[in-house]
Amino acid sequence: MLDEIKRRRTFAIISHPDAGKTTLTEKLLLFGGQIQVAGAVKSNKIKKTATSDWMEIEKQRGISVTTSVMEFDYRDFKVNILDTPGHQDFAEDTFRTLTAVDSVIIVVDGAKGVEAQTRKLMEVCRMRNTPVIVFINKMDREGRDPFDLLDEIEAELQIKVRPLSWPIEQGLRFKGVYNIYEGKLDLYQPSKQVVTEKVEIDIDSEELEHNIGEQLAEKLRMDLELVDGVYPEFDVNDYLKAEIAPVFFGSALNNFGVQELLDCFVEIAPSPRPVQAEERVVNPEDEKFTGFIFKITANIDPNHRSCVAFCKVCSGKFVRNAPYKHVRHGKTMRFSSPTQFMAQKKSTIDEAYPGDIIGLPDTGNFKIGDTLTEGEELHFKGLPSFSPEMFKYIENADPMKTKQLNKGIDQLMDEGVAQLFVNQFNGRKIIGTVGQLQFEVIQYRLLNEYNAACRWEPLSLYKACWIESDNAEELEAFKKRKYQFMAKDREGRDVFLADSNYVLQMAQMDFKSIKFHFTSEF
Ligand code: GDP
Repeated sequence: MLDEIKRRRTFAIISHPDAGKTTLTEKLLLFGGQIQVAGAVKSNKIKKTATSDWMEIEKQRGISVTTSVMEFDYRDFKVNILDTPGHQDFAEDTFRTLTAVDSVIIVVDGAKGVEAQTRKLMEVCRMRNTPVIVFINKMDREGRDPFDLLDEIEAELQIKVRPLSWPIEQGLRFKGVYNIYEGKLDLYQPSKQVVTEKVEIDIDSEELEHNIGEQLAEKLRMDLELVDGVYPEFDVNDYLKAEIAPVFFGSALNNFGVQELLDCFVEIAPSPRPVQAEERVVNPEDEKFTGFIFKITANIDPNHRSCVAFCKVCSGKFVRNAPYKHVRHGKTMRFSSPTQFMAQKKSTIDEAYPGDIIGLPDTGNFKIGDTLTEGEELHFKGLPSFSPEMFKYIENADPMKTKQLNKGIDQLMDEGVAQLFVNQFNGRKIIGTVGQLQFEVIQYRLLNEYNAACRWEPLSLYKACWIESDNAEELEAFKKRKYQFMAKDREGRDVFLADSNYVLQMAQMDFKSIKFHFTSEF
């Protein structure tokens, strides 16, 4: 059991769209022997221009089931890659996926540097102390000076960095990288499949000149000296404490620097870590099985109401057909066909270990944050629900279908597609999302899967904040004063709908005992 835990590496690759996440994922799978040729991994991107291209969305949902988790064996390790949607309107989905990983690889475009989406995702990693490795991609293109890039990463992502490889030129003059971690020179040959030529080399020997010429050899020595002077020596514990991010350079498209990244990754990345539950800390080595649902993908096939609930195993061994307790429902369930995922195919499994993700076929029993145990009353913490950024009233457009509409809304919210609030003043339902696309997805899916028509009505809000206070009197006074702007979330918690930043600031000043939270937990 301990061996199984120690050899697992469960992580996500995150990036701003187009930095090269899909390409890197594909190359990693190539090394894992999961696919034989490049081009086999489908991007689950929704192109920006395709906001109303429903085929795209349906395709994306179909693809996202099979590519949600990709697992493979590499050397003695079992690697689980969790895919995250690239489109920013689905950022919430990505945030939740990050709760199920033990580490993260961030892909940065060497020409563009740190971009908006990367910054936001890194915030989540920082909140959770998730160790990160940075891969600076597209070195075969003209990019920025590596020292500048590293400075930008430190400043923008607020983490110290330590290069473990160093590029020799870039763009058309790109010669390769010096692998500081292994002390090897990796020479670049543009190629999409072949692994690079590696030369074990003493950096001070003539051999360096021999391989890359006098000028570049001298520059490389100077660069490396500077690297050693500027950056602290690499200590794996700093990385594991999420205090420092090792950095690699390469070109995913040309399969360059990818194996070096993977080799270092499996060696230093953490195996499954303890998880905090409300009641106690759950250690992967604990004998009894526990797990939580972090993602649900539903109704892919309109002919069957088929959902897949993704469960991260946190402790113990999961066994097919064994009785497990669904803590929220208080009932016992058995799973006869749990699946694991391998590139494009799924297969039934008999057992799974901490770090593994299993797909549980579901017919509406699960919602995000649900816990499974061998009987213990346990609730995992930390699945965040962020204050949405856009809000609309949802109205029934077909009075004959009220029931269908309510059921549809309920199930979509269980899946975590968006958030529902009910205004306590007028009883109207409000849907909050991260982006416009989600409204379109909801309307489309309500019609197609639940035969219910909805209509959106504009609502201009700045933020939804969950409020709480030790001072019951002041809380009541606040709710009275703001009665038109008070709502309940699905768990019945009080939510204040602030219509502007100014109003929110005034409220914070006037009601000092009240805490305004911009995230809640499932
Ligand atoms: P994602 O949105 O982060 O998944 O990005 P993709 O993997 O789909 O890559 C975006 C684009 O960048 C594609 O056209 C890739 O072919 C290209 N790309 C990825 N890696 C490299 C690289 O190392 N060099 C170059 N020149 N292009 C790359």
